[in-house]
Amino acid sequence: MSDNLSRARPAAGGGLMLRERREGWGGATFRPLGRWAPLRRLPCRVASFFLSNPGPLMSRASAIPSLVLLTGAGISRESGLDTFRDADGVWSRVRLEDVATPEGFERDPVKVHAFYNARRHGLRDPEVVPNAAHLALARLERLWPAEVLLVTQNIDDLHERAGSPAPLHMHGELLKARCAACDAVLPWADDLGLEDRCPSCGAEATLRPHVVWFGEMPLEMERIEAALTACGVFVSIGTSGTVYPAAGFVSLARRAGARTVELNLEPSHGASLFHECHHGPATGVVPAFVEALLASAPGLRETE
Ligand SMILES: [Zn+2]
Repeated sequence: MSDNLSRARPAAGGGLMLRERREGWGGATFRPLGRWAPLRRLPCRVASFFLSNPGPLMSRASAIPSLVLLTGAGISRESGLDTFRDADGVWSRVRLEDVATPEGFERDPVKVHAFYNARRHGLRDPEVVPNAAHLALARLERLWPAEVLLVTQNIDDLHERAGSPAPLHMHGELLKARCAACDAVLPWADDLGLEDRCPSCGAEATLRPHVVWFGEMPLEMERIEAALTACGVFVSIGTSGTVYPAAGFVSLARRAGARTVELNLEPSHGASLFHECHHGPATGVVPAFVEALLASAPGLRETE
């Protein structure tokens, strides 16, 4: 699964940062079906929609709709990683122009490397682990009997650690570096600096964080757009709804006939574009939604 030597276009800049540990997340373990109080309160319109409107949601190949799941910083926040755009988020403490643009990197690569090195250190903090929302999505991917594409704007590796097989990181990955000379994308868990040589082509001072910066094209957009126009259900989780192109996914999916669902701490900027919204902490609303969705799939058998 390694894409060590894959070619990549310039990558992305969102992602998350270490949060000043004012709060932890409460429940690392996923609670089995029926034990989540919010589940009982959740208006289960997804299940009822499947029963009453099977046509538009059905994928071409089966009676079960395919899913596109989009996650943003809000899902990782309860794992101890900070968001970018909240009032106390990363962008309130550093200037994005300095650390998340190609121009900023050109101006002061040492500062940019230091910023992402600190993020990498934060990700290695033993207290930063996947939370119940990450685990619930991995469970959904495992059990859902039709196609599921998990797209994340996050640059952390919490989806992978939760068991998601291949999340698509549209804004790149903190634990990878990319060579400006040969375009190799390499696993990179440690500090990265100008002194590092590209392991692929041997060039000096050509490595940069494999993170899509502002002004750069997010990764694998064609694949994402194809999945959005073919999916039966699009679920947006923990995203602010302000950063394009991800903020436009709901409209694309909706125009193509998908049911659209928002799961977020509070109504996002695009909340009115969704058929259905559930608001609250990700560790509550995401597992509850996943269980309701799994319960709606006819004939689905628990295999774990
Ligand atoms: Zn190289």
